[in-house]
Amino acid sequence: DSVSDNSVALGTESVASIHSAHSISENAIIVDLHTRKQTELQLIESMVAEHGAPLLLLNCDTVRHQYRSLQNALPGVTLHFALKPLPHPAVVATLLQEGASFDLATSGEVDLVREVGVPAEKTIHTHPIKRDRDIKDALDYGCCVFVVDSENELEKFIPYRDEAEVLIRLSFRNAAAFADLSKKFGCSPEAALDLIKKAKEWGIHVKGLSFHVGSQTMDAGKYVEAITRSGALIRQVSESGLPALSTLDIGGGFPVDYQENGHCIDEFCAPIREALGELPDTVKVIAEPGRFIVAPAMISVSSVMGQSVRDGKTWYYLDDGVYGSYSGVIFDHGAYPIDALHWEGERFPSVLAGPTCDSIDVIAEDIQLPALKNGDLIIARMMGAYSSATATEFNFFRKAKIVVFNDPRESEELFALQIG
Ligand code: PLP
Repeated sequence: DSVSDNSVALGTESVASIHSAHSISENAIIVDLHTRKQTELQLIESMVAEHGAPLLLLNCDTVRHQYRSLQNALPGVTLHFALKPLPHPAVVATLLQEGASFDLATSGEVDLVREVGVPAEKTIHTHPIKRDRDIKDALDYGCCVFVVDSENELEKFIPYRDEAEVLIRLSFRNAAAFADLSKKFGCSPEAALDLIKKAKEWGIHVKGLSFHVGSQTMDAGKYVEAITRSGALIRQVSESGLPALSTLDIGGGFPVDYQENGHCIDEFCAPIREALGELPDTVKVIAEPGRFIVAPAMISVSSVMGQSVRDGKTWYYLDDGVYGSYSGVIFDHGAYPIDALHWEGERFPSVLAGPTCDSIDVIAEDIQLPALKNGDLIIARMMGAYSSATATEFNFFRKAKIVVFNDPRESEELFALQIG
């Protein structure tokens, strides 16, 4: 229809340039807001006029760009996009077009990739704890690779040993990550060896090892340590006469540049490439990036519902908050670059709060903003990962509508129309 056609056409240029201006420094956001083209303002305002606020503007071209950058930084590594940070069909369709593979963790995610038309061979199921129903749903779809980290979980695969294969997940603690996933999942290399022996006894095929060094890991040394230890275990397994392990899954965790320090993924991955080069040639390496692929691809647009002065600061109450798109403030240590859409005028110490009646619903306590009127717009960048995915509708505040730009499904539809 004409609304979405129009937004696709507008989005191609202007949303992309909003993103490209993001990655310099804290000031750059403001500089960018001062210098950006009128069309970008118009785009955001026209989207709000059309759809209302709050909105999330999802740019599939940014998803493409992120996927390509990580693939270039990790040549030869098969990237399985982890759906959880942004399980949206447009993202799946974009990545499918790019040749990506996918990492699933629930039957809902299985349904989503199936609906978009992802071939099952491109998927793995990496939730370390599953119900029998979860295993069956994935197998019915054709996804045959699963992750286990305990004997209890391994035992669940005895009935499926002719069709399923498993990766053993190792634990490498990382307190500095946004989410230290090895606190909850994974086992020690010693316990993994025992599991591999048990799997042989039970006739279950162990395809390889996996780990996740923690989400938003800023220290590439954590990957190096985990790859080196996994490589040693892979060699030990072969030397013990157990069936050789053919795959190493180096997980997700690849960081994005929330702080705008000029972080470069290619440089970040240099030591990882070196460590991967030390693995036996027979080992195929895969990864499960989530955040890196989608974080920069979404901008949040919310509007001021009301305001009051409290203890010398102006509190602005937005129509989106930590129970909605800003849920990452609570669940994901989220600190997003936020500013007013109209930046003119002197700035004052302000507070940005969400719309619900709960006092935890505060997005930013110390933010310098120009004097805003009710109805003025606030935009936040880098909102693609773990934002809408973890949003609720507490107090019946509806989740922000996602407006998709450069959606490959639309161009396919258009193409089909032209040739139909
Ligand atoms: N794989 C697994 C098993 C995960 O649990 C997660 C995140 O929780 C990911 C991949 C994605 O990690 P990230 O978004 O840090 O890349």
